[in-house]
Amino acid sequence: MSEEPRELVIAGSGIAGLSAAVYAARADLDPLVLEGDEPGGQLTLTTDVENYLGFPEGVGGMELIQRGREQAERFGAEFEHGLVESAAVDSRPFTLELSTGETVRTRSLIVATGASARWVGADGEDDLMGYGLSTCATCDGAFHRGNDVLVIGGGDSAMEEALFLAKFADSVTVVHRRDELRASEIMARRALDHDAIEFAWNSELLEIHGSREAGVTGATLVSHPDGHPTEKLEAGEDVEHEEVDVQGVFYAIGHEPNTGFLEETAVDLDESGHLLTGEGTHTNVEGVFAAGDVMDPRYRQAITAAGTGAMAALDAEQWLDEQAAAAAEEAEEAVAAEPSA
Ligand code: NAP
Repeated sequence: MSEEPRELVIAGSGIAGLSAAVYAARADLDPLVLEGDEPGGQLTLTTDVENYLGFPEGVGGMELIQRGREQAERFGAEFEHGLVESAAVDSRPFTLELSTGETVRTRSLIVATGASARWVGADGEDDLMGYGLSTCATCDGAFHRGNDVLVIGGGDSAMEEALFLAKFADSVTVVHRRDELRASEIMARRALDHDAIEFAWNSELLEIHGSREAGVTGATLVSHPDGHPTEKLEAGEDVEHEEVDVQGVFYAIGHEPNTGFLEETAVDLDESGHLLTGEGTHTNVEGVFAAGDVMDPRYRQAITAAGTGAMAALDAEQWLDEQAAAAAEEAEEAVAAEPSA
């Protein structure tokens, strides 16, 4: 166990964590950034980022992350591999148990552990993620001008992705495992009424075809009149197979915020597991702050995550200053209260 607690630990090394690290390091908080199993976060799964301010030619997701890390290191941020497995936040300093077996103590904590897009589990997805397969239409949609693409899912995200993609693609087919959408009425209606959006009902994606060189070239869909065809296929029932020529596949079957390690703590989470924040990036537990997709189910953009990372570092800095000032005042009062010799 480290002897002296750190001033600030940032859990997560995606763009929110890196942005927090740059601000905190410049404020001399000597932040320790903990990198989990997906160092760099979701941006490392994206090829080009064209909507991050300041890069008129676009920038690779990986490059953006690497540059952010260099920037944070330049100001003295430390990086260490370790997934936070449990956090004791009921007393300060907080104690974090890492997957490496190490224990870290810290006076303050920024949770920037992100959210992971759910993956379908289709054959080919491991190879093609970032090469025509994407979990973010806002990031990658513009590469599909004139293409035919699939969107997998039947919720609001799938409708939103389909509507966004329909601005670029020739055709967008929403592949949904049932015959009824989960999306809100208004989003569903917009997608259903759109000329360029079609629906493959009671259908699921079995396989994505292509290569990293050629990108996505097609996909195999399965369907069953009662829905959930892959379950039926696994149970040995007959399902219909269809090969489709598409150049892009977008997963929109939901995100999971990476907050499992906080479930048993006093930190408030919403029903989907996202961290709830009050003023700025403060959570309900003093000294714990939240940044990025782990607290933002709505915008989920690189630039907004970087913004909340900066906010969390500023909030943490101010809170630590206030704690230090209160401790100094208490010490002074204790000295003043001592009987003089
Ligand atoms: P969601 O509401 O949980 O919908 C996920 C969809 O993916 C469902 O249709 C689900 O099918 C399908 N799905 C899940 N696992 C699957 C699998 N393994 N294979 C195939 N399909 C699968 O998630 P979301 O659409 O990301 O929305 C999350 C929350 O954000 C919701 O509360 C939503 O309203 C909100 N949101 C709002 C907006 C907006 O208002 N503009 C935009 C985006 C998101 P089933 O229906 O069969 O379960």
